[in-house]
Amino acid sequence: MSWLDEFDARLRDLDAAGLRRVRRVVRPDGAPEGGTRLIVDGEPLLAFCSNDYLGLAAHPALIEAVCTGAREFGVGSGASPLVSGHSAANAELERELAAFVGLPRALYFYAGYATNAGLVPALVGEGDALHSDALNHACLIDGARLSRAAIHRYPHGDLDALGRALAKSGARRQLVITDAVFSMDGTIADLRTLLALCERHDALLLIDDAHGLGVLGPQGRGTLAAAGLTGAAASRRVLYMATLGKALGVSGAFVAGDATLVEWLLQKTRSYIFATAAPAALATALRASLRLVEAGDARRAHLRHLIARLRSGLAGLPWHLAPSTTPIQPLIIGGNQAALAVMDGLRARGLWVPAIRPPTVPEGSARLRITLSAAHTEADVDRLVDALRGLAHGAA
Ligand SMILES: *Cc1c(COP(=O)(O)O)cnc(C)c1O
Repeated sequence: MSWLDEFDARLRDLDAAGLRRVRRVVRPDGAPEGGTRLIVDGEPLLAFCSNDYLGLAAHPALIEAVCTGAREFGVGSGASPLVSGHSAANAELERELAAFVGLPRALYFYAGYATNAGLVPALVGEGDALHSDALNHACLIDGARLSRAAIHRYPHGDLDALGRALAKSGARRQLVITDAVFSMDGTIADLRTLLALCERHDALLLIDDAHGLGVLGPQGRGTLAAAGLTGAAASRRVLYMATLGKALGVSGAFVAGDATLVEWLLQKTRSYIFATAAPAALATALRASLRLVEAGDARRAHLRHLIARLRSGLAGLPWHLAPSTTPIQPLIIGGNQAALAVMDGLRARGLWVPAIRPPTVPEGSARLRITLSAAHTEADVDRLVDALRGLAHGAA
């Protein structure tokens, strides 16, 4: 079939450009605690690539909670939330999530991708305008495309450009969508200025805090709380979305905000209505995780310490360490093959840091996306720093 021959040829092109993606088969090296020590395709490696920022994904309390939840509710939820899939555990989790992030109401989804892909079309459609940061996550972009609203992309973080676009648009309804912590750069969006612009132009603001919840804000309540925009200071025009498979260590996502807005989303979000509800056992684990996150100041302090240690250790290398204060610490290498070579060099030293290449990041900015976790030790970070310094010497 000529179609398949064409795919074959294009797969070979990906190989030639260093862009073929491969999956590694991973299992924990011994007990899963912390998740930083992995057997990757049979090879033991110290990993700096998980988004399990607080090291909770293998916490005994979460493992126990999954088992408790499964014994009480079974494993599968059996139906969509609007049929019979909305368990008591899911309902309780929604109340706790809303309270945790300081917003009136929350809706719990099985995945972050599906949340954003569904939310945006539920909010805007043909004739409306969407404003999207150039570095937004793929699922916000896909939601934007599904919505059929006119999409205006503004340069990363350029809120003057956003303000001009909001002022110029004649659309009846406008929605601004942004990552709160940008997943490949670690930069933090200026939520206060974004909200002020949305107020001035009567727009809604949808924030994706996949990488901020659990890490930033008082007790890990997220980037919106860190900006002082929750609780009594919450705006009715903000929708706050975050995922639950990163710092929360489980799986799933939620959106929170004004009760009317959330009720509207419950009625109109196709990825929520036409999909099997998240299992109650995971909701049970998430409730346990919320308690650990809330009590996790020591974990967050250790994480901040590791971030500072990594940054000072990598100062002066020939590669650009992006100016990030979050656990996402990208080391920009440039070319795809060069980034792969550094990744392979680390791998030969027993370290696993994935090279991120286009189209995930812009052409010419291939990078090692180093992520730190509270489960790492100082010695782990020192090992990575020493290895990178050794490779930089070799490259110079
Ligand atoms: C991981 C991620 C998602 C997707 O969430 P899943 O639960 O993994 O589907 C959405 N937005 C951002 C910014 C992410 O990093």
